[in-house]
Amino acid sequence: MQFRRLEDADLSGKTALVRVDFNVPRCEDGTISDDTRIQAALPTIRAIREAGGKVVLLSHFGRPNGEAKAEFSLKFLLPVLEQHLGEVIGFTGGDDPVSIKENITLLENTRFHPGETKGEDALAKEWAKLGDIFVQDAFSASHRNHVSSAGLANYLPAYAGLAMERELDHLSQALENPASPVLGVVGGAKVSTKIDLLSNLVEKLDMLAIGGGMANTFLAAQGYDVGKSLCEHDLKDTALKIMDTAHEQNCRILLPIDVVAATEFAAHAPHRVCGLDEVGENEMILDAGPETVNGLADAIDRAKTLIWNGPLGAFEIPPFDTSTFEAAQYAAKRVKRNGLIAVAGGGDTVAALKHAGAAQDFTFISTAGGAFLEWMEGKSLPGVEILTGEVS
Ligand code: ADP
Ligand code: MG
Repeated sequence: MQFRRLEDADLSGKTALVRVDFNVPRCEDGTISDDTRIQAALPTIRAIREAGGKVVLLSHFGRPNGEAKAEFSLKFLLPVLEQHLGEVIGFTGGDDPVSIKENITLLENTRFHPGETKGEDALAKEWAKLGDIFVQDAFSASHRNHVSSAGLANYLPAYAGLAMERELDHLSQALENPASPVLGVVGGAKVSTKIDLLSNLVEKLDMLAIGGGMANTFLAAQGYDVGKSLCEHDLKDTALKIMDTAHEQNCRILLPIDVVAATEFAAHAPHRVCGLDEVGENEMILDAGPETVNGLADAIDRAKTLIWNGPLGAFEIPPFDTSTFEAAQYAAKRVKRNGLIAVAGGGDTVAALKHAGAAQDFTFISTAGGAFLEWMEGKSLPGVEILTGEVS
């Protein structure tokens, strides 16, 4: 994929407005419980400083809804950033007028301004005065048409930061320009949240394995009795249409061929492996069965590229994590031994892959949530679009 990269920018003596994602999870005492997002932002900041540029950091934090609220202030990040970067970090904005004094300055929560989420032009113009170039390094915010994720590019030349670059390179390697055959694995709770995703993937992929609660909707649409399973019976026609499109587009759909059923949604609930036509009226399908995992492993063997979103079963409650874990571990092994390219994303998916001990072996794991899904749905992301067009 072609886009403007940080290496294309002239940084010396310039001030870069850098959009980062500092929307970090915090414990009750205020400490940061997971600093992945801070770590992800550091290489770009360091690169700009090493090239002789100044940095103004922009990020949202929580949902203050356009008002300056103390509990959403970004001030808590100053000591953390100073420790990582070894420089004094300025802090500006909020109730005080914006002034840039230090080589690195953190701007107060962008969402304290009502204009931010509205993509207000006047705000873009005002912020653009703070610097010479715009560096978009928050892929996770790039599906929003906000001032700090896209609007600034109307007034400044925009470049991808290093984290953004990594994300775009890996995602385009998996979906735009993949080594084929390409296998998609889509699981999770409901079809209704992933209709656009499934519809886009069947047009692009060679094989699509559908698992999790959403597979029940497909099984029911084919006439199987899924008992008390999570199932969206009203989406029967949607499911059948996705299957039809898949057929037309030569995308092979893999549905479960056996399942794990239980009468209770609880950890270690009594359960049994059964065939698709053996689910009792009081039973729920909570995981895919071993034959299904074997079939998926065969598909993984055939694939050169794997894209995964959504667990194959109710992975939070053992032993209904089994198929997700086994398939994830198998894919991780193929990455290490056979050069499979495996890319995954989605909140619960990342948790499941980490839990399975497979995450570190995947080629790339996107932590972007919503933006990752919109990318997989084939939608254009405003914060990415600005990196590909002509410089304004
Ligand atoms: P992601 O966050 O990775 O996009 P989703 O949010 O779509 O994934 O789906 C994850 C949820 O799907 C999990 O909470 C999991 O328990 C649920 N789920 C998966 N399979 C089943 C099933 N057979 N029955 C009920 N819930 C399921
Ligand atoms: Mg989820």
